[in-house]
Amino acid sequence: MAVSISEICENTKLAREMALTGNYETAGVYYQGVVQQIHRLLTSINDTTRRAKWQQVQQQIANEYEQVKGITNILQLLKADGHLDRPLGGSTSYNFSAFEEPTRDPDVWGPPPPRDPDVWPAPTVVEHKSGTPVRTVRNTRKGGTDTGNKTGTLRGTRGGSTSANKKDAGRNTKGKVEQTPRSARGAKNSDSKDDKEKGDKSEKDGESEGKEEHEEEEKRFDPSGYDRELVEMLERDIVQKDPNIHWDDIADLHQAKRLLEEAVVLPMWMPDFFKGIRRPWRGVLMVGPPGTGKTMLAKAVATECGTTFFNVSSSTLTSKYRGESEKLVRLLFEMARFYAPSTIFIDEIDSLCSRRGSASEHEASRRVKSELLVQMDGISSASEGEPGKVVMVLAATNFPWDIDEALRRRLEKRIYIPLPSNEGREALLKINLREVTLCDDVNLTDVAVKLEGYSGADITNVCRDASMMAMRRKIAGMKPEQIKLLAKEELDLPVSHMDFRDALAKCNKSVSQEDLDKYEQWMNEFGSA
Ligand code: ADP
Repeated sequence: MAVSISEICENTKLAREMALTGNYETAGVYYQGVVQQIHRLLTSINDTTRRAKWQQVQQQIANEYEQVKGITNILQLLKADGHLDRPLGGSTSYNFSAFEEPTRDPDVWGPPPPRDPDVWPAPTVVEHKSGTPVRTVRNTRKGGTDTGNKTGTLRGTRGGSTSANKKDAGRNTKGKVEQTPRSARGAKNSDSKDDKEKGDKSEKDGESEGKEEHEEEEKRFDPSGYDRELVEMLERDIVQKDPNIHWDDIADLHQAKRLLEEAVVLPMWMPDFFKGIRRPWRGVLMVGPPGTGKTMLAKAVATECGTTFFNVSSSTLTSKYRGESEKLVRLLFEMARFYAPSTIFIDEIDSLCSRRGSASEHEASRRVKSELLVQMDGISSASEGEPGKVVMVLAATNFPWDIDEALRRRLEKRIYIPLPSNEGREALLKINLREVTLCDDVNLTDVAVKLEGYSGADITNVCRDASMMAMRRKIAGMKPEQIKLLAKEELDLPVSHMDFRDALAKCNKSVSQEDLDKYEQWMNEFGSA
C-alpha cells in the first residue's frame, strides 16, 4: 500500500503535539510509526536525491524520538525513586477520579498499549487536517505548556490558549522537494484547491513522483550570490506550499476575510487599477486576543489566494539566526519578490518591534527591525514597477500597543480580529464537531450562548474536552490490558449535553474584559479597517 505523505506529516504533527503536551509515551508510539512509514516510503522511491532527502527527514524524526525517549526514561527514574506522587495512588488501574485532579492535565493518559508500528492508529479525538505542511521554527509565547519554548519571552498571564501548542506541535519535517514553492500562480481559488486535490489523488495513486518532477521544473530561486544555507533554510522551514486552511474552515470573521481578499486578490486580478494612489497595501496587521483565528486567516489567504506563503515568527528572526537575522530578512523579501505573488506572515510581530529605544530593545532586534522597515518600503516601489507581482506583509499581534510607531505606519491596514459572535460560536462548534456524533439532547445554539466571551481556541478546547468525556467514563477503573482490547468504536461514543456542561465547567475563558477594553481603545486610536 502506498504511503501517503500527508499521513506522515499528520502523524509527525501528532507525535510532536503529544510530546509538547507532555504525553511522551504516546509521542513515542507516533514517532515510531512515522519512522516506519518513512521507511516504507523509501522503498518506493527510486530518485536518489529524493531518497536522500527523505532519509534526512527520517533521521531527524529518529533523533526527536530519541530525545522524547530520554525524557521518558528520566521521568521513569524519578517515579521509581518516589520523587513524584503517583497520581493513581500506586494502582495500575485507571481511575476516573484521577482525571479530576486540578494539577493534572485531563488529557494525559498513562502509557498507551504498545502497538504494531505497521498498524497505524487513526486519531479519534483530536481533529487535524491532513496534509497540512507545517513549519519548523515557532515561538510559543502565546501561553500553554510548551516545553520546547527556548527563546520566547513569556508575558504575564495573557493568552491562555493552547493554540500555541497546537501550532508548535506542527513542526515541519518535510523535505525540500515537497516544499518547492509555487511559481507565480493564478489567483483563482480553484487553482489552489485543484492543486491540493490533484496532490492528494496522485499520492494515493502512487503518482507523486510525476507530480514532484513537475514541481521541480517550476521556477526556483537561484541561490548563487546568497548564503546557500540560508536559502535552503528558508525554503525548508519558512516557505509553505499549501497551508491547507480554507475560508470555510474559519468560522465568523466575514469582514476580515473580505478585507484580506480585497488586499491580496484584487491587486493580482486588476494590476492596472492598483497603481499610484491605489497601490496595494504593503502591510496588514491583524490585532486581537490570542486564539481568535489570526494565524488561520493568514494560512487561508495563502491557500485561497494561491500566493506563496512565507510563515515566520518574530522569534525565528531574532533568536535562532542571531547574527544572520538581517540577512535573513533581506533574503526573505528577495525570495518573496521572486515567487510573487507572495504573502509574508510575521506572527507575534510585537516581540520584534517593541518600541524603539525601550529598555527591552536589543541591538540585534533593532537591526532586524530596521531591515524590515527598509524592505517594506521596498515592496511598494517594486510593485509599482511590476504590478501584479504583489508581496504583502501580513502580521499578527496580541499586543498591538507594543508595536513600534515606524512599523505601525507601514502596516497600513490594521484590522481587529474579535472574539467570535454568538453566530460565530455556533459555527465554530459545528466546525470542531464535524467528526463527532452528538446525542439528541445537545442543542448547539444553547451551548454557543453559554460560550460567550470564549475565544475560538477556548471553544476548540471545550469541544475537545467534551468529546473525550464518554471515553474517560468508559475506561474509568479499567486496567491497561483491558483498555488495549477496546475497539475504536467502543470509545467513539456520542457526546451528550452533560458532557458539554462538564467541559464548560472545566475550561475557562482566556480573555478578560480588561484585555478587550485595551484592544478597543487601541483600535479606536490606530485601527483602520
Ligand atoms: P491566533 O493566531 O489568533 O492566536 P489561531 O489562528 O492560531 O489563533 O487559532 C488557534 C486555534 O483556535 C485554531 O487552531 C482553531 O482550532 C481555533 N480557532 C480560533 N478561531 C477560529 C475560527 N474563527 N474558526 C475556526 N477555528 C478557530
